[in-house]
Amino acid sequence: MLIDTHSHLDFEDFDNDRDEVVKRAFDNGVEKIINVGCSLERSVSSIDISSQYDNVFASVGIHPDEAAGLKDEALLRKKIIEIAGSSDKVVALGECGLDYSHIKAEPEKKQQEALFRLHLELAEELQLPVIVHVRDVFDEAYQVIKNYPNVSGVMHCFAGSATQAQKFIALGFLVSFTGIVTFKNATEIHEAAREIPLGKMMVETDCPFIAPEPNRGKRNEPAYVRFVGEKICELKEVNMAEVEKITTNNAQELFDI
Ligand SMILES: [Zn+2]
Repeated sequence: MLIDTHSHLDFEDFDNDRDEVVKRAFDNGVEKIINVGCSLERSVSSIDISSQYDNVFASVGIHPDEAAGLKDEALLRKKIIEIAGSSDKVVALGECGLDYSHIKAEPEKKQQEALFRLHLELAEELQLPVIVHVRDVFDEAYQVIKNYPNVSGVMHCFAGSATQAQKFIALGFLVSFTGIVTFKNATEIHEAAREIPLGKMMVETDCPFIAPEPNRGKRNEPAYVRFVGEKICELKEVNMAEVEKITTNNAQELFDI
């Protein structure tokens, strides 16, 4: 049994068949699902979905892409605390982090960093792990995270090098792989997965995005987390039972589920 540690079942892509998608996951070797919030509104939807299923949990956070225009930090702090406290199905803060792929201006970067720091501060305060989204700017993210030694979490959808992964592991973080690891040309990520110990690894879909092979290009869903697990088996030359046992353990420990 695997845990899909990162899904977005609240997205409109699932409006017509959400129940079937969840059922299909639980019928196909998925034990638990973490539904990740990426805006205040979506965090509330995420909690709503988690309340409908026994083994679906939620996180509360604001994706760095949403940082522009969010200036009232005191209000955001209050809202995040309020939403996170509204359900005992909330097991993490995030996704939060740094992603400069759609921005260039320095003030926008600063704004993302402030929002990221807010999540890390609150993670410490609320004693929750963080789900971190970083695209490309691993060094910058590392410089921020290292200031919060009491915060644990996961580098979600990890797409960096083995060396970068090891730096976050040294900070007490886990590294989580999506369908990208199943892509033929993702050699750097294959290398990272080979080198990182299974004990520091989790698996996820990030559905509805980035469906793994053999479903690349289609809508992704939690049942497909199996393809990510199978690729990890292949890369690490271990059997599926071991990948299931260890990654599931890691997720249960991190999220206390
Ligand atoms: Zn996500």
